[in-house]
Amino acid sequence: MAGVTKRFGEHTVLDGLDLSVRTGRHVTLIGPSGSGKTTILRLLMTLAEPDEGTITVDGQRLFPATEKEVREVRKKIGMVFQQFNLFPNMTVLRNITEAPVTVLGLDRDEAEARARELLELVGLGDKCGMRPSQLSGGQQQRVAIARALAMRPQVLLLDEVTSALDPELVAGVLDLLRDIARSTDITILAVTHEMNFARDISDQVLMFDAGRIIEAGPPEKIFSAPEHDRTREFLGAVL
Ligand code: ATP
Repeated sequence: MAGVTKRFGEHTVLDGLDLSVRTGRHVTLIGPSGSGKTTILRLLMTLAEPDEGTITVDGQRLFPATEKEVREVRKKIGMVFQQFNLFPNMTVLRNITEAPVTVLGLDRDEAEARARELLELVGLGDKCGMRPSQLSGGQQQRVAIARALAMRPQVLLLDEVTSALDPELVAGVLDLLRDIARSTDITILAVTHEMNFARDISDQVLMFDAGRIIEAGPPEKIFSAPEHDRTREFLGAVL
């Protein structure tokens, strides 16, 4: 994205932001609450539109773009939300097969076979017929991860995926994501408050403050030798 500005009323949340993530890289966004991190992911999911600037994914236009262009790009992007956002009235299996069948046009049998594989991967092979409400938060988040992966996205957006979980469930979900990050060539852009996770999965960490990237670098540098006072202050408070 280049020159992206996003305002809510008088409040400028992103201020002429330039951000590029290379294919296959794992990038985490850290920074104080309200600094605009989630807004970036929402722009990439076309859940919000910028006031200024351009956004492209894999060379294709996402903003400004025609509806057709947006539909094409959206297929490449998967997102896991803080609050899981599963379809409550569908079984676990159906939650995962719905978009591959309706958006990608996959055969239902093929989509189900793939969903079962993914449920095994996330450790929930025996939960196909359950409803989200019958699962723990950690299990629901695993289903949400499987659902995102079922679309075979090139880019995976993770928005504070453990913030809504009970503390004892956090490690399991982060371990799963670490495995996924290690074993696939998917591009990951993650907003996180889990600094150990950021340190483990990132090729690059971006420190955000007031709608701007104030510092960027590999995790060993950002966490061990931050240059910016704001970064030092932030890490001092959260580590
Ligand atoms: P956190 O870590 O707390 O999630 P963040 O860095 O992800 O914070 P954003 O969620 O991107 O921050 O929000 C940035 C600012 O934009 C906040 O001040 C928020 O109140 C404001 N904001 C976000 N969405 C809206 C909206 N739909 N309407 C008005 N203001 C909004």
